[in-house]
Amino acid sequence: MATTHRPEGLPDRIRHYIDGAFVDSVGGETFDVLDPVTNETYVQAAAGQQADIDLAVAAAKRAFDEGPWSKMPPRQRSRVLHRIADLVEAQDKRLAELETFDTGLPITQALGQAQRAAENFRFFADLIVAQHDDAFKVPGRQMNYVNRKPIGVAGLITPWNTPFMLESWKLAPAIATGNTVVLKPAEFTPLSASLWAAIFEEAGLPKGVFNLVNGLGEEAGDALVKHPDVPLISFTGESRTGQIIFGNAAPFLKGLSMELGGKSPAVVFADADLESALDATVFGVFSLNGERCTAGSRILVERAIYDEFVERYAERAKNVVVGDPQDPKTEVGALVHPEHYDKVMSYVEIGKGEGRLVAGGGRPDGFPTGNYVAPTVFADVAPDARIFQEEIFGPVVAITPFDSDDEALELANNTRYGLAAYIWTNNLKRAHNFAQSVEAGMVWLNSNNVRDLRTPFGGVKASGLGHEGGYRSIDFYTDQQAVHITLNEAHSPRFGRG
Ligand code: NAD
Repeated sequence: MATTHRPEGLPDRIRHYIDGAFVDSVGGETFDVLDPVTNETYVQAAAGQQADIDLAVAAAKRAFDEGPWSKMPPRQRSRVLHRIADLVEAQDKRLAELETFDTGLPITQALGQAQRAAENFRFFADLIVAQHDDAFKVPGRQMNYVNRKPIGVAGLITPWNTPFMLESWKLAPAIATGNTVVLKPAEFTPLSASLWAAIFEEAGLPKGVFNLVNGLGEEAGDALVKHPDVPLISFTGESRTGQIIFGNAAPFLKGLSMELGGKSPAVVFADADLESALDATVFGVFSLNGERCTAGSRILVERAIYDEFVERYAERAKNVVVGDPQDPKTEVGALVHPEHYDKVMSYVEIGKGEGRLVAGGGRPDGFPTGNYVAPTVFADVAPDARIFQEEIFGPVVAITPFDSDDEALELANNTRYGLAAYIWTNNLKRAHNFAQSVEAGMVWLNSNNVRDLRTPFGGVKASGLGHEGGYRSIDFYTDQQAVHITLNEAHSPRFGRG
């Protein structure tokens, strides 16, 4: 499996995009980008430093200060966003092919992500014209209303799992609301970020509104977070990185939104529809190669069905199709990068000392090279095990039994994370009570990762700070200035006139 199909349209070099033009780093620095199937360098990307961030921020600030984008009526901005969505939809297969090449994600799943990216643009295109700001009147006395204003240059920092979709998740609301942006995509997967530049140009987004600086987190990312002309940072990535960014943004008191890591529980009660629970929990942890922030990577199962569940789960895991990411039959492709592969494999080895291995446990047969990991299942995992507590971010799951509702809840909450939780039961009261008490930003009851774009997305505890999604994104990317006027002097507060 050490061959890969090179899609058409791969660039010779990945560059920054600043003020409407593709450019190299000021100092000429580059870094290698690897094909996850062969682990060979397939392209060099410009490695942004402080000087590149300075140029990008200056271009974004100029575009913001001078307009026209930041001053345009929402309806006009909305038309550009709809054109962006049209362009993404029209080339979704090509975008998916390139994304798969860069990330190792299975092609069918990358296609779904490209389509979701188009939906994100369409959603915010509609929302900004439907948006009505608050106005409050006290008849005969006063009137108050809210001026919703774009903030300025938004710094957007994104991870490598589903990069194109996650970039759309931030780009769409940030620019829909009239801000300008500097995007710093993940260094493992820089390809899709530069695809946005051509799409935005064709859709008529004015130059300087979208700027892109590639590079390492500690260099380009760090410079973006510390830039005084960037009042707003939206970050998605590891909790550890979130802590560093939080500290670096603190002296500036910047607006921050953080979507961080997870170790989400999927709790299966004996009264659940077992077939659906098995299907969903297998998909929930192995889809997107297990590189999914909301993966239900700890499965808690009521003792009465535990043995049957483990046996049937392991059987299903063994049948998940591992293969060439570009093959439409593939369900689990190649992990993104050899560094990440080594990390996941080290957890597989740790797991062998912490749980009972019932499926996988190493490279799948027939894949001697590339970042392939067999879907791996450990049963009887204790709550203090590292594979129960730490985010692995690969196709590895820990299964643990429980004996009562209280114990299920205690186990579910027994990590530093709080991103998502999944509950499988046919008892409605139990499901809703559990949702009330579980420490998670998002709860799915008898379902798996279906989400209307209007709902908030985000985690609690070490999984995040603030929520984006729907109206919350509009709030995050705008200032809400309150304007007050007195209609009758008699009701104005004043000191006595003697
Ligand atoms: P990461 O934290 O290593 O990197 C994310 C981004 O931050 C990259 O662009 C990186 O270059 C940049 N970065 C790194 N150090 C930086 C610094 N000091 N200053 C500024 N930027 C810096 O995360 P990753 O490995 O790319 O992504 C995987 C993680 O993302 C997982 O923990 C996963 O759960 C999380 N994730 C969360 C969500 C969510 O919505 N909660 C969604 C997807 C991924």
